[in-house]
Amino acid sequence: MLPDDPVTALRGASLRVTKQRIAVLTALAHHPHADVDLLGRVVREDLGSVSTQALYDVLTALTDARLVRRLDTGHPARFELRGHDHDHVVCRGCGVLADVERDNSALPHLPQVHGFRVDETEVLHRGLCPRCRTRVHHP
Ligand SMILES: [Zn+2]
Ligand SMILES: [Zn+2]
Repeated sequence: MLPDDPVTALRGASLRVTKQRIAVLTALAHHPHADVDLLGRVVREDLGSVSTQALYDVLTALTDARLVRRLDTGHPARFELRGHDHDHVVCRGCGVLADVERDNSALPHLPQVHGFRVDETEVLHRGLCPRCRTRVHHP
């Protein structure tokens, strides 16, 4: 579980505490599933000018330290704080993304497979959201 305080989270992950890292963690706390564009807008409101490259560097460091999860749901990549495990459903039509609470009993239990020790399982469901389903039926 990620501590509420970004400084504590960074220290816990042995990361240097910087204004930019704090700003990104804070932005993600308020905007789960944000892409880099949205994060950039929020962080710049807070800190003034921050280059997109700097933003990617921060996100890479936070993702590598497992404070942040990168969601590979297509383009653009989206990010969220690691906290409680959950799955996602993404719309094929418009890309809207929602959390799905995980029913652990429904997942195959794979502590080891092909010699790997599995410590994380991500499930991505795809389909059409209510708005896109309506559009398909009433063009
Ligand atoms: Zn949709
Ligand atoms: Zn999520």
